[in-house]
Amino acid sequence: MKRGSRRVATVAKPHARFTQSDVRAAVAGLKGSVSFRAPLREYTSFKIGGPADVVCEPADIEDVCLLVRQARAHKVPLFVLGGTNLLVRDGGIRGIVVSLARLRTIKEEPGAVLYAEGGVGMPTLIGYAIRHSLAGLEWAAGIPGTVAGCVVMNAGTKLGEMKDSIKAVRMVNMKGQVVELDAANITFEYRRALLSRGIVVGVWLRLTQGVRSDIERVVKDYLHYRRDTQPLAMPSAGCVFKNPPNDSAGRLIEEAGLKGARVGDAEVSMKHANFMVNRGQASAADVLALIAKVRHSIRRRAGVRLDLELKIVGKT
Ligand SMILES: Cc1cc2nc3c(=O)[nH]c(=O)nc-3n(C[C@H](O)[C@H](O)[C@H](O)COP(=O)(O)OP(=O)(O)OC[C@H]3O[C@@H](n4cnc5c(N)ncnc54)[C@H](O)[C@@H]3O)c2cc1C
Repeated sequence: MKRGSRRVATVAKPHARFTQSDVRAAVAGLKGSVSFRAPLREYTSFKIGGPADVVCEPADIEDVCLLVRQARAHKVPLFVLGGTNLLVRDGGIRGIVVSLARLRTIKEEPGAVLYAEGGVGMPTLIGYAIRHSLAGLEWAAGIPGTVAGCVVMNAGTKLGEMKDSIKAVRMVNMKGQVVELDAANITFEYRRALLSRGIVVGVWLRLTQGVRSDIERVVKDYLHYRRDTQPLAMPSAGCVFKNPPNDSAGRLIEEAGLKGARVGDAEVSMKHANFMVNRGQASAADVLALIAKVRHSIRRRAGVRLDLELKIVGKT
């Protein structure tokens, strides 16, 4: 297994100029689906985002390899999404947006190890773990992202983090080759994994054999807690800001009296001050203006610079 680089980017960087015929050539021959001028609000939990030149859903890992090789040959950038920690700007994303929604295999391997393909949703994976009495993922109950997105983000809660369970990661590198990385060779930080550029297509998770009813109870309790404290009925992208060291972004925002603050249809949630919700027709520009307003206020009031947990991508 290869050693992971310390670079942060995990998707192809925008290359030189490319044309629509380059885009068509890059997606030619895929077994999966290809949608041109696809509105990205349909792919994000925020229900915000302009169009992509094309959205591809590769049918399998071989298809991902083909797509990466062809995109590289035609110098078309790739961006991979699950869509739950993203604000896509109103101008959308040029090039190819990749969704791994069709990579959904889950397998149990000896020694309480689960292998999940990158497009498996975290809620589906937790459901599988419960049915197989495998403990260790309860902390992630209620995180809506894909397992690959949770690796890249080192998703976490106060109960645990993705890095605690990862045994190894399978990626397609920028040459279109499948490579595998031991977790011991990956650096994980607060809400990010330092991976070389490429697409995470699978992950092995080391769990422990547990008692189904106990695992189920912890998951249910945590889901109830989330329902009581987070605005789950409204479109959002989860927490907007990282918690500053030894502090809570939500507490700072609430104490600044910013719950309910609005720009257009973007609102600081009344239920959880570190969530912003889309009340219906919010644009990315509305959310960006609200982020600027919150940051400015917290800087002035508390002297704290809030860093984004949310990823902002695309063109204005
Ligand atoms: C209601 C709600 C609650 C949430 N609660 C939590 C929480 O408790 N804890 C937490 O950590 N997060 C939480 N989130 C945020 C989000 O679910 C996580 O950050 C998750 O890890 C994002 O996964 P995703 O698949 O949606 O990735 P995205 O948000 O689409 O992408 C995140 C980043 O990963 C990259 N990426 C995605 N897939 C791949 C891939 N296959 N290969 C390479 N790069 C990739 C993207 O390009 C982007 O840079 C919450 C979100 C919502 C809406």
